[in-house]
Amino acid sequence: FLNMQEDQPIKATAQDALSSKNYATQLGYVHDPFISLFARDTVKRPPLINRGYWARVHRVRMTVEEFLRIDDDNKQIISIGAGFDTAYWLLRTEKPEARFQYVEIDFEDVCNQKSQIIGSNPQLFSMISSPITPNQEILARDYKLLHADLRNSRFLMEKLVLHTNISAPTLILAECVLAYMEAQHSDSLIEDFSNLYPNSAFLNYDMIQPHDPFGRTMIQNLHARHVELKGIVSYPTVASHLDRFRRFYERVDGYNMLMIYNRHTDRHERERVEKLEWMDEFEEWNMLMEHYCMIIGCKGSVNLAF
Ligand code: SAM
Repeated sequence: FLNMQEDQPIKATAQDALSSKNYATQLGYVHDPFISLFARDTVKRPPLINRGYWARVHRVRMTVEEFLRIDDDNKQIISIGAGFDTAYWLLRTEKPEARFQYVEIDFEDVCNQKSQIIGSNPQLFSMISSPITPNQEILARDYKLLHADLRNSRFLMEKLVLHTNISAPTLILAECVLAYMEAQHSDSLIEDFSNLYPNSAFLNYDMIQPHDPFGRTMIQNLHARHVELKGIVSYPTVASHLDRFRRFYERVDGYNMLMIYNRHTDRHERERVEKLEWMDEFEEWNMLMEHYCMIIGCKGSVNLAF
């Protein structure tokens, strides 16, 4: 399954996510002074897409902030398929008092591009307490950038045993990642994470509903390139995602993104973003948001919910 050619479009989704988030940031949906340091371009998106990005970024950040309130200096966040995410730099700036280690995992090529950007930008580099060697993993005290193919979960777990604290409170983030994998691979990954970290939460943001023609067209248009969503076939609904997480975690919570947006985001923030751009395609908005979900599974001492 290590077919480099076939993986190229999947790796390219890291740039797509970055460009779209950069555009939403420029319009004021999210505050992120670091994203423009990584982005090569912006891709203009319609209002409903920008609002959808806001919901995703805002809700992930709410969960991360809740996790950071855990009173344990060893706590750690592991972002799988992290792409060009900027969360580490944002958290270091916005929560200077918080103690945590941040670990990012992606394909080697994507990590190399990211570490090159970090190494050549004094602002990004100054927040990493370690020298950076081109084409090598970053192993700073509180920031790690590790190469791995997530479909080879056993290899990844061996790396994580070396570089993380197994018993510390741990938050695993998978944002728009698992749907690109065959279900057998994402199942093993979730199971192995659950077995390795007894005190942990796993937050998954994912695409669902592949059988609905509207959704299929919408998701295809959203992705600048054709990327096969192998995982959706086995996990097409919120219920199927919940069932899977219940196999590996003690407490599980999850909704489609329409529910998350309406009921589990900050009302004041929501009112603010709703004024940013005129949007009247409510039927499409509802359908779009029903094509994504967020699931959280928790075990041991870590207890997070929406
Ligand atoms: N999580 C980031 C975000 O939300 O901005 C990036 C999302 S991007 C849509 C998907 C990311 O998952 C890409 O960076 C891609 O390289 C990574 N990815 C997908 N499958 C992977 C695999 N088998 N091994 C490592 N990384 C993978």
